[in-house]
Amino acid sequence: MKQKSLIELSAGLQSGEFSSVELTQYFLQRISTYDTDLNAFITVTEEQALSAAKVADEQIAAGSATALTGIPIAYKDLFCTEGVRTSCASKMLDNFIAPYTATAVEKLTQAGMPMLGKTNMDEFAMGSSNENSFYGASKNPWDLARVPGGSSGGSAVAVAAKLAPVSLGTDTGGSIRQPASLTGITGIKPTYGRVSRFGMIAYASSLDQGGVFATSAEDCALVLSAMSGFDDKDSTSVEQDVPDFSANLNDSLQGLKIGLPKEFFDKGLDSNVTDVVNEAIKAYKKLGAEIIEISLPNTHLAIPSYYVIAPAEASSNLSRFDGVRYGYRCDEPKDLTDMYMRSRGEGFGSEVKRRIMTGTYALSAGYYDAYYLKAQKIRRLISEDFKQAFEKVDVIMGPVAPETAFKIGEKSDDPISMYLSDIYTLSLNLAGLTGMSVPAGFSAENRLPVGLQIIGNYFEEAKILNVAHQYQQVTDWHIKMPSAYAGEE
Ligand code: GLN
Repeated sequence: MKQKSLIELSAGLQSGEFSSVELTQYFLQRISTYDTDLNAFITVTEEQALSAAKVADEQIAAGSATALTGIPIAYKDLFCTEGVRTSCASKMLDNFIAPYTATAVEKLTQAGMPMLGKTNMDEFAMGSSNENSFYGASKNPWDLARVPGGSSGGSAVAVAAKLAPVSLGTDTGGSIRQPASLTGITGIKPTYGRVSRFGMIAYASSLDQGGVFATSAEDCALVLSAMSGFDDKDSTSVEQDVPDFSANLNDSLQGLKIGLPKEFFDKGLDSNVTDVVNEAIKAYKKLGAEIIEISLPNTHLAIPSYYVIAPAEASSNLSRFDGVRYGYRCDEPKDLTDMYMRSRGEGFGSEVKRRIMTGTYALSAGYYDAYYLKAQKIRRLISEDFKQAFEKVDVIMGPVAPETAFKIGEKSDDPISMYLSDIYTLSLNLAGLTGMSVPAGFSAENRLPVGLQIIGNYFEEAKILNVAHQYQQVTDWHIKMPSAYAGEE
């Protein structure tokens, strides 16, 4: 069951081979067996999942099902889900029951997908390892001593260990692509504006974008088609037609121009990762693609500008958590100021506080021009680099992360080295482009998964999904599972 693609699951549901209730029970059972170790879920919504599955079975029987009806899904715990705790993995929102549902979730619910639960993440999506969670780190199923990446770590782990066939995450600076790479699954971050951010608790509003984790590009395409589109509740969602992302998966790659940015293959890249990425490029040559060296000269400025812009936006977004209207409130405040200070001091974890302080500093009078405005100018230069590159090539490829999954605790005391995990992913968010991570093999040194990054031009999700799918037709990296979770039952 767990090896089946979403299309196969859909066919099984339609033909009556199994019901949605059985399928949902199957994944709930896997969660109960394995999640004590993996810690991928913050909340499991068993009752709700089974009652939604029952409705899905009725729809299937009545002939009113979509391709996704009856297939269960998990959501990163920053997508608001009415009546269910939405914690953002923070003590601040540990008691927060969302009064409404995020548009992306709403669309998939309408399509008939039962929700299995809400997944673990770095607090407020700040991190690259899932260690910054109030509920403890989620573990990498390939090696429980290692991180799964972050911030959407739990969503990635859920799919990698097949506790869910598909899940949603968000990507502000790499939080879908990096955990997908570190856990050996497929993940797509759509173009900024493609998926509504309504009901997604904001970290950095000009960068955040919801996307999909699944086994394959084909599975991602199916779910992305159903969750995308303009939403008048999100002023940054774009009025752009949503194509059927599954329609062009089989297009030939003959003559495809792939750009390899020389800055992505610098000395900071682990040689085992380089080897895997080079092998993948060879496979693309065999598929008829042409490889062109390109330059994204401002790549080295992505981290410094992101770590001004994202904290600046976060400091503003997180000012609403003040202990007054919702969320954590400290015990017995002396007065209003004491309540603000202690509620925020006790409710936020240390990485979140670090970002709020950096962001507030960068926005303060006197420093605004020196930091924030400068960072915005660099952001423009980074977008221009991509614009020029896409005049010469159809897609850009490179590594996702500089190394494979690191050990839990290895970087927790060194924020700068943690921030470097996003060196190849951040620039894409600053430009607002779409990108994927596709499993491309394992490091020769430690046998851990390595992803290939595929970057597409604005609104070219269909193109990168096609490029990923063709690769997945000639390789089987994406269907490899960590042995501890692959046993038959
Ligand atoms: N690791 C990056 C950060 O901590 C990106 C996180 C994300 O994409 N949500 O900001």
